Amino acid sequence: MGTAQHTPAKGLARPKAVATTKQKLERLGLVSAQDLILHLPLRYEDETEIMPIATLRPGRSAQIEAVVIRSDASYQPRRQLTAVVQDETGEIGLRWLTFYPNQQQQMQVGRRWRIRGEVRGGMHGYEIIHPKVTVADSPLPAALTPVYPTTDGLSQPSLRKAIGQALEQVELSDTLEPELVKRLGLQSFGEAIRTLHAPTPDMDAHALIEHTHPSWLRIKFDELLAQQLSLAAARDARRSLRAKILSKNPKPDSLCARLLQSLPFHLTPAQQRVTNEISADLQREFPMYRLLQGDVGSGKTVVAALAALQAIDAGAQVALMAPTEILAEQHFQKLKVWCEPLGIEVCWLTGSITPKARKIANEAISSGRARLVVGTQALIQDTVEFCDLGLVIVDEQHRFGVAQRLSLSKKGEEFATNDWIPHQLTMSATPIPRTLAMTFYADLEVSSIDTLPPGRTPVVTKLISSARREQVLGHVAQACATGQQVYWVCPLVQESETLDLQTAVDTHLSLTQALPDYTVGLVHGQLPTAEKASVMKAFREAQINVLVSTTVIEVGVDVPNASLMVIEHAERFGLAQLHQLRGRVGRGVAKSVCVLLYQTPLSMLARERLRAMYETQDGFEIAQRDLDLRGPGELLGSKQSGVTLLRFADLATDSALVVAARETATELRAKAPHIVERHLARWMRGREDFLRS
Ligand code: ADP
Ligand code: MG
Repeated sequence: MGTAQHTPAKGLARPKAVATTKQKLERLGLVSAQDLILHLPLRYEDETEIMPIATLRPGRSAQIEAVVIRSDASYQPRRQLTAVVQDETGEIGLRWLTFYPNQQQQMQVGRRWRIRGEVRGGMHGYEIIHPKVTVADSPLPAALTPVYPTTDGLSQPSLRKAIGQALEQVELSDTLEPELVKRLGLQSFGEAIRTLHAPTPDMDAHALIEHTHPSWLRIKFDELLAQQLSLAAARDARRSLRAKILSKNPKPDSLCARLLQSLPFHLTPAQQRVTNEISADLQREFPMYRLLQGDVGSGKTVVAALAALQAIDAGAQVALMAPTEILAEQHFQKLKVWCEPLGIEVCWLTGSITPKARKIANEAISSGRARLVVGTQALIQDTVEFCDLGLVIVDEQHRFGVAQRLSLSKKGEEFATNDWIPHQLTMSATPIPRTLAMTFYADLEVSSIDTLPPGRTPVVTKLISSARREQVLGHVAQACATGQQVYWVCPLVQESETLDLQTAVDTHLSLTQALPDYTVGLVHGQLPTAEKASVMKAFREAQINVLVSTTVIEVGVDVPNASLMVIEHAERFGLAQLHQLRGRVGRGVAKSVCVLLYQTPLSMLARERLRAMYETQDGFEIAQRDLDLRGPGELLGSKQSGVTLLRFADLATDSALVVAARETATELRAKAPHIVERHLARWMRGREDFLRS
């Protein structure tokens, strides 16, 4: 195309220029022709039409042909070139914040150009900043123009050219058999690739731009299939590792049987089922890698305890790790009550215990006397030497974040004390939406507790504007009067722990004054551990009526007598967080209420979140809505969560493709290993490591 601006001077050392393009392509990871053909457009620009200036709107891209009617280069107070151009329908400003002399030349009054760029609302009407200027009246492209992801100094035309050459060199063979492609109702790989790089005028521009075109579907399918194949391979690899076989003790006086006898309740059928699933895994010779998911209050702890006891009965040590001290402490207390009568010593290890206590704990762990060790990350970060660790249980693992999750599973392998790897059980109260479970967690086995223990009454959720805070205080006083306990959760102040704390302290003060007849406690993340533990103990023992807290109570805390929860500035919390918080009430026989106090005006997203909380208590439904609202990247808690590995597919909208890819992966792995290899070779070049971790 006849680009009039900074045309490189002819006759410059050409070979060098070619080499530079090559280097720039390499920077994008584009080395071979195969790489280039899979470098698909980020978006498309519609350059097929010249638009009248009068029809331009801010925020949209524009292509016009117009005559320069004013032009002004100024150097003070800063260097800037402005111009006004006009067509039959109107005029619009152009602006360059830096410019070359040849650009100033172009903007001589009276010259006519084709101009492209994004329209913005400026101080003196619409303008285009740093427009692309090319000769007017040259032929218009007949179809959409692809715009590729690129890097500094690598222009779209040179990228297009390189890709065009690659398309001529490479045979666009399909990795899949034609019958399969047909059965799946997909386009062939070659057709899809050609279409996406070079759409023809008759194609549905909207579908191309929105990624719903059949060509995009084929590419997304291929990508998801590669992911499924790679995850399945990772699972196989794990199965080739060795773990200690932790047989179930069938005797009636086994530790498990004795715990079950001592409990004041029977396991629900759901708990029984997942306990059996875990038990079977522990008896295999390769390490278990299982996720136990169950809504808040579904009774995961006792399932974990039974797994631990099976392992201990089989002669192994067990480590249970929780993300916060409060939670670890609570597990410790509960497990002590359950296990010590059975003659099992439970050992406590966190980052904050005294050096002396740590020395004692370390000794108990390394000598093997401590059969069950409960603690925080300190368990793995420290130089704790286990004697014969056979099972690692990680509670509320989603709280650790994906990066930590990865390092945990690595550490889990470092735990290996003999020549075997410990079994791993992770527990989560945040159910994973199906599509995510099938993709990023596809290498995990999943057990779900899908029903709550009997006798729970659903929590009534009320949305109340903070203007009616006084009224809510009345409810709190009433609840206290009938002997019930209350959580008051303080707003989260973004990016400021100090402010966070301040609001909690202030709220504590104002509630103490408003409720003179009752005891109001305060707990937050910065309290010393011992104090945190003693506040929680007082609340558990009902010496505290109202517990003001920051989100430290979010996970796992279990006080059945607490039946009212007030969440201030509920609009600032995420959906999963709100669901977790609400799960702290409704654990006893009393009818429970969760009040979501909100401050208007509400953003659209906040309104949707509050609506979801009001409409459902089903953790799976909540998780699905969260995925819809936030997208998988945030849901998984990390930008490097691996979601970025999916360049084309979108888990929020492509769940049908995920299902198809998963089924196809199973089929291909069973019947056509050579196709598996071919497909992975095309799609996973250099990325396997990332997926396997
Ligand atoms: P979570 O799954 O959120 O970790 P917990 O394990 O803390 O839930 O269990 C919540 C409460 O339910 C605890 O008080 C626990 O003792 C109780 N519980 C667990 N299983 C049962 C059951 N089958 N019947 C009655 N209560 C149960
Ligand atoms: Mg729990």
